[in-house]
Amino acid sequence: MYMQHTYDYLIVGSGLFGATFAYKAKQAGKKCLVIDKRPHLGGNVYCENIEGINVHKYGAHIFHTANKKVWDFVNSLVPFNRYTNCPVANYKGKLYNLPFNMNTFHQLWGVLTPEEAQDKIAQEQSKIREQLSGKEPQNLEEQALMLVGEDIYNKLIKDYTEKQWGRPCNCLPAFIIKRLPLRFVFDNNYFNDPYQGIPIGGYNALINKLLEGVETRTDCDFFSSDWGLKKALSIAKKIVYTGPIDQFYDYRFGHLDWRTVSFKTRIEQTPNYQGNAVVNYTSHDVPYTRVIEHKHFEMFGQAVYDCPKTVVSEEYSTEYKEGMEPFYPINDERNNTMAEQYRALAMQEKDVIFGGRLAQYRYFDMAPVIEMALQYFE
Ligand SMILES: Cc1cc2nc3c(=O)[nH]c(=O)nc-3n(C[C@H](O)[C@H](O)[C@H](O)COP(=O)(O)OP(=O)(O)OC[C@H]3O[C@@H](n4cnc5c(N)ncnc54)[C@H](O)[C@@H]3O)c2cc1C
Repeated sequence: MYMQHTYDYLIVGSGLFGATFAYKAKQAGKKCLVIDKRPHLGGNVYCENIEGINVHKYGAHIFHTANKKVWDFVNSLVPFNRYTNCPVANYKGKLYNLPFNMNTFHQLWGVLTPEEAQDKIAQEQSKIREQLSGKEPQNLEEQALMLVGEDIYNKLIKDYTEKQWGRPCNCLPAFIIKRLPLRFVFDNNYFNDPYQGIPIGGYNALINKLLEGVETRTDCDFFSSDWGLKKALSIAKKIVYTGPIDQFYDYRFGHLDWRTVSFKTRIEQTPNYQGNAVVNYTSHDVPYTRVIEHKHFEMFGQAVYDCPKTVVSEEYSTEYKEGMEPFYPINDERNNTMAEQYRALAMQEKDVIFGGRLAQYRYFDMAPVIEMALQYFE
């Protein structure tokens, strides 16, 4: 029987994957409906305006990429500012620049030249080399010690990583830390990518541009009783699904695990609380992992002081429970195997495209997610 569809695509989820897909589909003359179960559009890049500051509600998001095509695409919608991520670490009241570079080495040991720093690190690594005497590192602790030596590990890696994962470093697998780049130049730019910044006007401006002229509905859960696959396929030719893959298949192989972060956000009555967007707390003395001061993503120079208050968020790394936000997939054997089973089912779907981080059960930065959505229209 010939069925008259209202839409070409029903897009479940208005994050960067769904919104980019909708934008390109609209350009190609297709009719889309985007639904999201949250009360707002934008997925995890959504920002809430508090005291005139764009607050990254689902965690700090810094756009960075080496892909010129993606960079040109996002900038064609909204120009990006010159924000450069230069996080600072606070270890027991002392500050160190990140990523590990000549500034950090000077702060740790007073060394002045790259040669002095290299000598010092070699000295620091020698103890673990002797202990392992040629054996492969068996856990994250041994791996990190091999890569950077004792001092950096103890002050800037150990407690921070334990807070992130909720387990001692010597019980975590070595593969979590494959590389720990050491830079023998005075360069605090966290990313190596040539393009980096925040959309001027915030991420909502980008999402609004992507979804301009597209029909959208918020507070609309695909799995609520009045939706579901059957109804969706009665109104749309194809479904673009960006929700959790295990939920799509009603958890038939089990629930996939996630790691998440909870946020304590507050307003401070000062224009400049910590002088930087990102400060990592790298000792167990402090229970949170980072403090984000949101205004520094978008306000520079005098603008920081023209806005009299500031908003900061403490980040607590937390085990995921039902009802929390699923943030980071867990790369252990149980979850990898289960995710493969779900992905195999997804591959067989003719009318459903599975896109983005939840539907693939893989961590992706923003730029690769946009790139993947763009690829459907090349
Ligand atoms: C804490 C954190 C920090 C990050 N920081 C960075 C960073 O600094 N730089 C960077 O490049 N990347 C960062 N990322 C990655 C970035 O968030 C993702 O790449 C991006 O959000 C992925 O977009 P998406 O569309 O796949 O998913 P999402 O943004 O999660 O969108 C999925 C949407 O689907 C909706 N949905 C789910 N189920 C249903 C349903 N049943 N019915 C209707 N709607 C549904 C959700 O409500 C959500 O809005 C970070 C991620 C996290 C978790």
